Amino acid sequence: MSASTVELPQTTQTEHQSPEWVRISYASALALRFRSGRFTQPFDFGGINLLLSYDRGCLSDCGYCGLARNRPGDYEEKSFIRVDWPLVETDELVRRLVRHEDKLTRLCISMVTHGRAYPDTLDIAGRITRSVATPLSLLVAPPTLNEARLQAFRDAGADMIGIGLDAVTEDLFRSLRSDVPKGGLKWSQYWRIVDAARLIFGAWKVNCHTLVGLGESDADLMGIFTRLLEGQIFSYLFCFNPEPDSRMGALPKTPLQRWRRVQLAKFLLEERGIAPEQFRYDDAGTLVRIHAPRGLVEAVVADGHAFMTNGCPSSGGEPGCTRPMGSWRPTEPPRDFPWRPRGVELDGIRAALDLDSLVSPGPGPSRPPELCAPPAAGRVTE
Ligand code: SF4
Repeated sequence: MSASTVELPQTTQTEHQSPEWVRISYASALALRFRSGRFTQPFDFGGINLLLSYDRGCLSDCGYCGLARNRPGDYEEKSFIRVDWPLVETDELVRRLVRHEDKLTRLCISMVTHGRAYPDTLDIAGRITRSVATPLSLLVAPPTLNEARLQAFRDAGADMIGIGLDAVTEDLFRSLRSDVPKGGLKWSQYWRIVDAARLIFGAWKVNCHTLVGLGESDADLMGIFTRLLEGQIFSYLFCFNPEPDSRMGALPKTPLQRWRRVQLAKFLLEERGIAPEQFRYDDAGTLVRIHAPRGLVEAVVADGHAFMTNGCPSSGGEPGCTRPMGSWRPTEPPRDFPWRPRGVELDGIRAALDLDSLVSPGPGPSRPPELCAPPAAGRVTE
């Protein structure tokens, strides 16, 4: 199997572009003191997210994304997963990573679909790994990659690869990312890169980002979680949060009850060994029943880890990338918690889940612990 790159137009380099400049998430800018301010709730934050920056931005046109090229506005003003991404000089960023290294948990460079994305990512990855030991993930743009380039990323010191699948069925992927005015992304090519990355980086070193709320069913989501679990690839969950002015900007946010039930079902499948057949769906594919021991489900809810942000771990297996405010605003309760939820937060989760209408008695784990997903995203066993 060979993954080939897709020809992408080159653009003329002007100032404020990668590799000399990158954008960083607003939370990263606060943590590295590029911006002043504080989180509404104090918590340890050390997951630094970088994003390549180009005049013409991302050359793809996904219907839900804040960076899509047909979305109105200058690229520098656009948001990505609904947060602002300040532009900073790469070498100054690396100096600050060195200065704050003791607080860092995970670094990540997000590529965009652009003709310079591969060499620039390799360049920036090298500057980082030569300076700090914090583990580095790359959230890659499959059209720019092949096996040799993935191997070069590994040789440059990246330890995890993320693939933004987002849409979890081929039809949905095609309607949102391929058959759109400037689309052209290919489901099959994304999967070639998933498989190639799995071979090169190894078990539990690859992840796929999956979005809840693009038009898929719960059964579709659980199907992809099962497929990835069997391939020893992490599924990371994201909640659709409409980006203003994107083609899907007027659509509603994923209902809270659906979101919480998907978080719970995913955790039971991946980390408690509950078999796929124990999740029952109606004709529309909506999760209506989980057949599992009530005590086991109650313990998972009380533990809280199932509702934390899914993200690449720190070197110690603790929460690494927690993307605060990625799918919720500072004024809202978190959809995925960067910290372990407790007290009133767990009360809210329990109320949204309505376990009495969801859980029926059923068998316990059918998948032995060694075939479950390893604790990640802060799910350190205590
Ligand atoms: S979860 Fe991993 S791949 Fe995704 S943004 Fe965070 S560090 Fe990057």
